[in-house]
Amino acid sequence: MKFKSIKGTKDILPGEVEAWQHVERVVHRVMRDFNYREIRTPVFETTALFSRSIGELTDIVNKEMYTFLDRSEESVTLKPEGTASVLRAYIQNNLGEQSPLVKVYYMGPMFRQERPQAGRLRQFHQFGAEAIGSQSPLLDVEMTALALEIYSQLGIKQFELKINSVGCEKCRPQYKELLVAELTRIQSKLSPESQARLKQNPLRVLDSKDEGDKAATKNVPLMKDHLCTECVEHFTKVQQLLNAIGIKYAIDGRLVRGLDYYTKTAYEITSTALGSQDALAGGGRYDLLVEKLGGKPTPGVGFAAGIERLLMVLEKSGNTPKDEAGPVLFFVALDNSSLTWAFAEATKLRAKGIAVELDYLGRSVKAQMREANRQNARYVVVVGETELKSGKAKLKDMRNGGEQEISLERIDGSLQS
Ligand code: AMP
Repeated sequence: MKFKSIKGTKDILPGEVEAWQHVERVVHRVMRDFNYREIRTPVFETTALFSRSIGELTDIVNKEMYTFLDRSEESVTLKPEGTASVLRAYIQNNLGEQSPLVKVYYMGPMFRQERPQAGRLRQFHQFGAEAIGSQSPLLDVEMTALALEIYSQLGIKQFELKINSVGCEKCRPQYKELLVAELTRIQSKLSPESQARLKQNPLRVLDSKDEGDKAATKNVPLMKDHLCTECVEHFTKVQQLLNAIGIKYAIDGRLVRGLDYYTKTAYEITSTALGSQDALAGGGRYDLLVEKLGGKPTPGVGFAAGIERLLMVLEKSGNTPKDEAGPVLFFVALDNSSLTWAFAEATKLRAKGIAVELDYLGRSVKAQMREANRQNARYVVVVGETELKSGKAKLKDMRNGGEQEISLERIDGSLQS
């Protein structure tokens, strides 16, 4: 029987993983510069945590979650996104009591049973940040600045930031009524999917990709034109701050995110280097969510970004870091006792932080040299009876072919990085 990875999941192989590590390093560094601290939550949680926060009628909860009964008949779900778990941890561990503003970030796998296609997987990876405890629009803008700084440090230039305000509990219900009335009037012109959404999640009709829907809904009222005074002020301040720090953006009144918990600011970063799945990152404010999950009323704002899509953009623009690092030193052993010596010496050098490799397959000298070359080793030292007796050997620099006699007792002093 041959086993294969599950549809929509991917192995990240040696040769590919270096690009991941590079992205991860940049994320950790930029998060630290913005004073966000890492938080790691479990990969699975009680199902109700997600249905409550993301919303019962969203696509994620309705169609995409990996939900199963465990052996004690408890319904558990593999994380489809990061915010709900972070807020659960925030509440459970009383993080708000230790500090009035909690700035955290995460990175890891998420799971959604979507139809796999380019840029859409069933296990994918996100990094994201959450700032919990403040209503300040400074933080809405800090989130976008943070995401864009990460892209910029990775050399990604092709992106667009779209922002919108999705209102709050004061102005959204009235707007929703207005929208539903209008959508009901033009119902017959909508696609079957949008007709279903009209009943379940009317705001999502606005971001339908269907051309017919787009034409039919061209003149429907938009939330941004029906905000209450508080939401208008917040949205205006967000725009002023974006201008003040020189971040370019477009207001997109149709931007409604696929998760129900957003209030006020919503944003999305897209890239023209991606195909139909062009969203690199998205996020927004969620001032009611902590309370909804059982905590004290606490405002918050966050974003999440897909790593696979970021890597696709890096590859398209030729910015994927190459996997060039081989071992610093490769021992070529001429016989068994020299191999044992090389093995012991390799262990000592490795303990000093030097990457060393040797032959484990009983290969000929020629084949060992070929292997050292294939692995891109910087130096080769050939050891045999003569070398071990004299305590001296040739150190070959594989970059320029130069050779130098060295003492076997002080190999590390002869290596340049
Ligand atoms: P969301 O939580 O849906 O706002 O997603 C945030 C980001 O995660 C998106 O902008 C994508 O970059 C990424 N993402 C979401 N779903 C998937 C998926 N199924 N496969 C790959 N990346 C995804």
